[in-house]
Amino acid sequence: MTPETQPIACPSCRVGSLSPGRKTVGLTRNDVTITMRNVPVMMCDTCEKATTTPAVTTNLQRISEDGLAAGTLEIEYTPPAA
Ligand SMILES: [Zn+2]
Repeated sequence: MTPETQPIACPSCRVGSLSPGRKTVGLTRNDVTITMRNVPVMMCDTCEKATTTPAVTTNLQRISEDGLAAGTLEIEYTPPAA
């Protein structure tokens, strides 16, 4: 038997499993909503709820603050510099 990657159970509906996808995410900072495109998310195949990992969430907050500072309300998601 070859070991397979275990599907991650959805924390929301507990029925579906999560698989990686890309999604447009809106984040509100100081009453301003910033749209971020191509955000890597884990998407549930049953309830379609998308969740982001803590690392992505932290990065989203940083990007949104950069966007606010620059006055940009629509940003393409970029992974953090290594
Ligand atoms: Zn679900």
